[in-house]
This record gives sequence, structure tokens and C-alpha cells, in this order.
Amino acid sequence: MSSRVLSRTNATMPAVGLGIWKIPKASCADVVYEAIKIGYRLIDGACDYGNEKEAGEGVRRAIKDGIVKREGIFITTKLWNTFHAHDHAKALAKKQLEDWGLDYFNLFLVHFPISLAYVDPSHRYPAEWFGDDHKVHLQNTPLHETWGAMEELVDEGLAKNIGLCNVQGSLLLDVLRYARIPPQVLQIEIHPYLTQEPLVKLAQLHGIAVTAYSSFGPASYIELSMDRGAASLFAHDVVTSISKAKSKTPGQILLAWALARNLAVIPKSTAHSRLVENLEATDVQLSAEEVKRISDLNLNLRLNDPVDIDPRLGIW
Ligand code: NAD
Repeated sequence: MSSRVLSRTNATMPAVGLGIWKIPKASCADVVYEAIKIGYRLIDGACDYGNEKEAGEGVRRAIKDGIVKREGIFITTKLWNTFHAHDHAKALAKKQLEDWGLDYFNLFLVHFPISLAYVDPSHRYPAEWFGDDHKVHLQNTPLHETWGAMEELVDEGLAKNIGLCNVQGSLLLDVLRYARIPPQVLQIEIHPYLTQEPLVKLAQLHGIAVTAYSSFGPASYIELSMDRGAASLFAHDVVTSISKAKSKTPGQILLAWALARNLAVIPKSTAHSRLVENLEATDVQLSAEEVKRISDLNLNLRLNDPVDIDPRLGIW
């Protein structure tokens, strides 16, 4: 299986995993189980996705049925914004481990470098972006404090690796100034409309593996009305012409483009045929010229931009 090596621990992170954002609770255990049966060895979850218990049930069923051992599967999850204070971060990680029914995560990521007011899990869980008054409430917890808690999770064996999502280069450099345990993975939005070359280069120069999320660009954002009217990448001429020439699906071409850039990918699907198709993207080799043709589609179009979350609310 194709993988990326994490420099501090020498752990291998599968290059293709299953993302579980927006997989309904009702089907999540079965989708995760099915994916593991097909051959997926990385599941990408988060507190915010609201389906960690169900994902854990799928993982544990696969382990119980002898399909995989715990050490053979890589579980990633994320710290939500309302838990950035030191003690909240640590308590949340422990709650998440209980939800998954696991005793460690392979990778624990800070979901966004944005600290929101604490919401007690007994009040609302996951807390999402908004308070009870439907407004966003920021909290003065600097990332420095949160990162200290993340490091303690490693010290205590609760997370094998830690990392960041959704940070840009200058903030990444800042964390690297004080980190006792440097981030091992940076997870960011990357697709042909948002190619992020300088940030990927910076992270990789510092030995940080980069995972691309939302590899299919607007596809994931249509149901949220956040696709900004961007044209489907599956139907884009450049993608379909390479797809036809190689007898591979457009989805596989989009994933192969990211893999050729030494990124890891975590496509989300609930359909058996697409789960198989996406995992088999590692078999697709693109030439440097094909990679460039796809990279040239860049529009610097960021679809998952929380600072833009809902300008009508005037929250920032
Ligand atoms: P994605 O790019 O994986 O696209 C998913 C959409 O594409 C779904 O509608 C799915 O049905 C469809 N699809 C899947 N495979 C296909 C194929 N082969 N052909 C055609 N259509 C296909 O979108 P995503 O879910 O936004 O991103 C993947 C994962 O990344 C998420 O599930 C989540 O785990 C992670 N993620 C992380 C963050 C973060 O802030 N760290 C943000 C967004 C997503």
C-alpha cells in the first residue's frame, strides 16, 4: 500500500484514506467497516463530524472479525475549536478515544487555528460554529496553549502523532518556533482550483507530510451551498481528456494528481464502487506534463474558508 512516512516517529500514513465528513450516523459504522474490508487502512474523522462513535463501531467490528489489527489501521481525528484551552483539549481527546473505543489515535489534528468559546459537551455536542444565539463567539486561547496540550497527548501515549489543519505558512512557521514536538502532518484544502504550491513546499521542506482534503473541489460543497458556482472538476475538459486517454475515471485522475505531488488524500464516499475506485487511484501514474496541465487550472479558490463562514452575521 502506498504511504507517506512521518518523519519524527517513522510511522507510515496510508496515502489514500477514507474521509467521513457528512457520512450520516446511521450508515457510518457500515461504511467504515466496508471500507476497511475493501482495503482502506486510514479513517479520517473529527469531533465536528458527529459520527465518531459510529466510526469507532465500524473499526472495532473490523478488528473483531479479523479483517485488520489495531496496529494495521491509522485513525486520524481532530480537536474542535471550542476545546482549544489546555484542559479542554485534553479532556476532549479522552472523550473522543472513549467514543471510538480506542486507547490511542495515530494522528490528532487541530481542526482550525480558531479558538471558540467553550461549550460543555453535556449542553451540545458537537458544538459546531455557533453559540445558542446563532453567533460565533471567539475565545482568547492562543495556539501556543493548545499546542502544549497536543504535545502532552503524545507524552501520555494518547496520540502517536499530532498536526494542524487549515493553517497558512506564517502560522506554521510560528508553531515551529516553539513546538517541542513539531507537527507531523498538515491537512489542508487542495484540489486543482486551489493548488497551494508554496504552502505544500514549505511544509514538505520542514518534513511535514501534507494531506489534501476536498480533492474533488466543489463536489463536497454543493449540498452546503458553498460551491461558489465553480464548475465540476469531474467534467472539466483537462480532467476528462486525461481520464479518457488513460481509461481511468475523472475521480481517479484528481486523486492521482494529488498523489503525484506527494500528498496524501482522504476522499469521502459511501458507495462501494467509488470506495474501490478511489482506493485504486494509487495505480494511476501521471506524467509531469499531465500534472502541470491539471495544476494550471488553479484559481486560488478556497471553498472551506471559515473566515467567510457567513458574512451576513457580521461575526468577525
Ligand atoms: P471530497 O473531495 O472527498 O468529495 C466528496 C464528494 O465527492 C461526495 O459528494 C462524494 O459522493 C463524491 N465522490 C466521491 N468519490 C467520487 C468519485 N470517485 N467520483 C465522483 N464523485 C465522487 O470531499 P470532502 O468530504 O470535503 O473531503 C474529504 C475528507 O477530507 C472529508 O470527508 C474529511 O474527512 C476531510 N476534510 C477535512 C477538513 C478539515 O478542515 N481538516 C475539511 C474538509 C474535509
